[in-house]
Amino acid sequence: MQAAAGTSIWGGIAIGKIHIYHRPERHVSAAAVTDPNAEIARYQAARERVRSRQKALYDKTQRSAGKESAAIFEFHAGMLDDGKLTDAIEQSILEGHHTAEYAVRESFETAAARFRDVEDPYFRARREDVLDVGNMLIDALQGTDASAVRGEEPYILVADNLAPSETAGLDPSLILGIVIRQGTPASHTAILARAMNIPALIQCANISVSWEGRHAILDGYNSCIYIEPSAALAAKLQKRYDEDMARRAALQNLKGQPSTTLDGRTIKVYANISGPQDIGAVEQNDAEGIGLFRSEFVYLRSTTDPTEEMQYQAYREVLKTLSPRRVIIRTCDIGADKSVSYLDFGKETNPALGCRGIRISLSKPEFFKRQLRALLRASVYGRLGIMFPMITSTKEVTRCREFLNECRRELEREKLAYDENIPIGIMVETPAAVLQADELAGMVDFFSIGTNDLTQYTLAVDRQNAMLGEFSDPHHPAVLQEIEMTIAAGHRHGIPVGICGELAADPEMTETLLRMGVDELSVNPTSVLPLRSRIRSLNLSQTAK
Ligand code: PEP
Ligand code: MG
Repeated sequence: MQAAAGTSIWGGIAIGKIHIYHRPERHVSAAAVTDPNAEIARYQAARERVRSRQKALYDKTQRSAGKESAAIFEFHAGMLDDGKLTDAIEQSILEGHHTAEYAVRESFETAAARFRDVEDPYFRARREDVLDVGNMLIDALQGTDASAVRGEEPYILVADNLAPSETAGLDPSLILGIVIRQGTPASHTAILARAMNIPALIQCANISVSWEGRHAILDGYNSCIYIEPSAALAAKLQKRYDEDMARRAALQNLKGQPSTTLDGRTIKVYANISGPQDIGAVEQNDAEGIGLFRSEFVYLRSTTDPTEEMQYQAYREVLKTLSPRRVIIRTCDIGADKSVSYLDFGKETNPALGCRGIRISLSKPEFFKRQLRALLRASVYGRLGIMFPMITSTKEVTRCREFLNECRRELEREKLAYDENIPIGIMVETPAAVLQADELAGMVDFFSIGTNDLTQYTLAVDRQNAMLGEFSDPHHPAVLQEIEMTIAAGHRHGIPVGICGELAADPEMTETLLRMGVDELSVNPTSVLPLRSRIRSLNLSQTAK
């Protein structure tokens, strides 16, 4: 038996034969061409072919994995139509007398280099996407088909790396699992694998060509692949696989069912999203509403400060599509790990304690009001709740409400409609907010506890520092006590209290949180049905074990 470890990006077990994918070599000639105009015509024809292939991939991915996963192919289409890139390619052919392949490679590598030094892992991962589009154009010019990842029977795909178009070109009915040597958790290959519900390992350094055709088991729970495992290990993993399959089938039956405990207590199970592209996942997993729309991703996905109109469109789409379900949109929580180039606060020694969340909004009135106006205008399309992040004092809430009132008055003057009864809430994610919970509860309509930041700030452990994993414990008694205090304070003032941090999806904690009296849990869309199942198995009238 051989074993190799990697980083699991999606749990689950895959059992089957290995097929190794070798990406075809692309030979690009540096020789000069004699007829640049004919070369430009070749390039334009290739671009057309790639465009229609991208459209087909978009449709296929949208059907199999939802709109969010398919969005990458819109990005690809944008690259194909990018005026600057097209000009650079045509100029290189005309002036440099380069082949179309050479000009494409040169121009796309220059475009990709812009993403290399960006700190944000999401944008760094986009470099791969840009190179992918360039390679597709070269394949189209050379008449080769790089999507030749196929086999006769289902297999575990092993590769050095997979471009997003290669991953999306996979036939999900033939792919049991994916193991690649490279990749990052934020790469689109990883995102697509998750959305396709395929166990996958990235950064698996020890993959070997000698694995071709051999029987293997990919254990996504333990981040390992076993080649020709022993009979005992194979039996153990087969059992886990059978259990997974039974659980997955059973979860589908929970769609449309209430999240009610055996003794009759009903909890709202909401989803966390980052934009309209997640609506498909919300629907597929039957979330009862949105407990946290991280609006900063609308800003992160934009290269310029999003206008009121851009934001309004994004909020309206979510509200309208999910109506009459509740949608809680959190105002921009930019800063710390989520930075954007168009808002520069200089180098901070402690970014998590620096300019982030509500501090930025309150210090930039025009920026804040643009978002509040967009939210108010969108509110007539569904059931909006507005939530403010990183609150530490009553003064901040007062100022938020003043800004909101100012925007309401502006819209009235402009005769623009808004919902007059939007619930206003805050994230409770700092120890200061917990200690002030009684005062704060008197000022808002709901609380939502952000256990990710609450753990960070209570235990003084940087949530971004992978070295501190063992010290970052959301089950720490201090954090649990804060959650309990917050729920009790909220209830004393008659307002509902939810949890939208990662702890909300932890099945080990569900009973404890319900016993504390939490009213709503908001989780990643794929955790909605497992959480509903857990809630339905609990009996709170029995003494806690
Ligand atoms: C949290 O802090 O728990 C939370 C939900 O917000 P974010 O993870 O976006 O900081
Ligand atoms: Mg937070």
